[in-house]
Amino acid sequence: MKMERRDFLSKAAIASAATLFSTNSLLSATYPAKEKLGIALVGLGYYSTDLLAPALQLTEKAYLAGIVTGTPSKAETWKKKYNLPEKNIYNYQNFDQIANNPDIDVVYVVLPPSMHREFVVRAAKAGKHVFCEKPMAPSVADCEAMIKACKDNKVKLAIGYRCQHDPNIQAYMQVAKEQKFGKVKMVTSAAGYFDGRTNHWKQNKALGGGVMGDMGVYALQGARLATGEEPISVIAQASTTRPEIYKEVEETMMFLLEFPSGARASCQTSFGINMNYLQVNYEKGWLKMEPQSGYNGNKGSMSDGTLINFTIKSQQAKQMDEDCMAIMVGTDLIAPGEEGLRDIRVVEAIYKSVKTGQLVKI
Ligand code: NAD
Repeated sequence: MKMERRDFLSKAAIASAATLFSTNSLLSATYPAKEKLGIALVGLGYYSTDLLAPALQLTEKAYLAGIVTGTPSKAETWKKKYNLPEKNIYNYQNFDQIANNPDIDVVYVVLPPSMHREFVVRAAKAGKHVFCEKPMAPSVADCEAMIKACKDNKVKLAIGYRCQHDPNIQAYMQVAKEQKFGKVKMVTSAAGYFDGRTNHWKQNKALGGGVMGDMGVYALQGARLATGEEPISVIAQASTTRPEIYKEVEETMMFLLEFPSGARASCQTSFGINMNYLQVNYEKGWLKMEPQSGYNGNKGSMSDGTLINFTIKSQQAKQMDEDCMAIMVGTDLIAPGEEGLRDIRVVEAIYKSVKTGQLVKI
């Protein structure tokens, strides 16, 4: 697992895709002449400001073409900082006019989860491909409606699971696939951080908050990706150490998953505890990652001494480049809407288990 080889392979893939791009009929009819796809970010909060916009300065197949914001002062700041033309700046009301803007190929929804459905559906109806942040939406019904809207309008839908584009995460997914150490027996997966905010959407049920509306999907992805299977049952327990802040949603969730092969996973996620690791015990060995879902520096080791320690310049840049490339050449997305839906099926079962105190079949 040498980085140079991976680098070479990914460059070769881009080069061959670029050849296709210029000569081949596999291309989407909508984008016959573009070298880079124009992305409009919807919602200019922490993730757009600190991670996605900077990553869009590093991308080779995508660029920041526009913004959609409810805050006029942010529009001014971003316009100057990123040299954006006035015609590529939208608010939530006039957003649908984006349909007439050929500069925008992809709308990237970076809003609180409860708003994802509305903006994904509006983007799809405007004929734009859509990237949507995780978690995809608060309910299975939302996710299904988002997938349908994109299918009906013949646009692609990618979920922002940046980790699935990280070679360190792909390395442990491969271990399960190849059964390098035999079958997976037990996974322990944790993802949490201390969030000091007291009045944010992460603490608001109606906006899609609760730790399962954020870090929880990393704990769940660790278990799903390490086994390569979909869980068949779950039993869960919610708790909080700060009931004055976490009034309507959980601060911490612990959940146990059972997989068809018999593998089990113990998952923990929290807005009150710093933790980020994955341990996988197989029939004949083990694998550990820590961190397992950081922005950079995810790393690990295996019982045979193999190290997992690839370096990449930006997960987000890699994610957007790979998703744009998939759109341009018509190949499968790494994490399409259906992948977001798989997580939300489990999240719904987790909440059902908390409510009933029972094990829930999925
Ligand atoms: P944030 O609170 O910093 O930003 C949210 C944005 O939505 C703000 O610009 C806010 O003005 C806007 N907004 C519009 N209507 C709103 C409303 N009614 N209430 C609250 N905000 C409203 O949040 P964030 O951390 O940027 O998260 C946005 C999305 O990105 C979420 O889905 C989150 O899970 C995801 N995210 C993903 C990662 C990742 O690593 N992939 C990291 C952080 C956040």
